[in-house]
Amino acid sequence: ENKKTFNLKEIIDLAIDECQAELQKSNIKIKLNTRNITLKGYPNTLKQLLINLISNAKDALNQKNPKNKEIKISLKQDDFITIEIEDNAGGIPIEIIDKIFEPYFTTKKEGTGLGLYMTKIILEEKMNATIDVENTKKGAKFTIKIKPRSEE
Ligand code: ADP
Ligand code: MG
Repeated sequence: ENKKTFNLKEIIDLAIDECQAELQKSNIKIKLNTRNITLKGYPNTLKQLLINLISNAKDALNQKNPKNKEIKISLKQDDFITIEIEDNAGGIPIEIIDKIFEPYFTTKKEGTGLGLYMTKIILEEKMNATIDVENTKKGAKFTIKIKPRSEE
């Protein structure tokens, strides 16, 4: 993919569009708190990474099956551009939270354990970005931080 200028909000919307049928099947609502942010990078690759994270949240929600299944996606900009993806599936057990970005680590029967590993590598090596995870009161929250490159 060639580097280009794109609107991050639009990429989030497109990622959600691609997941919408699956999300509806699972009765999952998306809550958005986004805004127009322009940056330079690889929009299609980023969209695919977001779809991965949404898909993980969907799996966790279907497993835990809370009453109102929800994925909240927010976008903020200060020195960094921050994308947060939070579900209400109860979070990641502390015994495994340090392992989820390792290759082939999975708790799923048919999992590859490569989604988060690839996501982390691509963000760090291609996009000048980081990804971290924490447990909130409701569930798991993944935070992507993109450092806009001043030289471009
Ligand atoms: P896979 O989806 O194939 O299992 P991933 O690398 O995408 O591989 O995820 C690794 C593991 O991290 C999952 O198997 C699951 O145990 C855990 N995980 C990822 N996202 C979440 C989430 N939103 N809530 C709870 N656990 C999660
Ligand atoms: Mg996955």
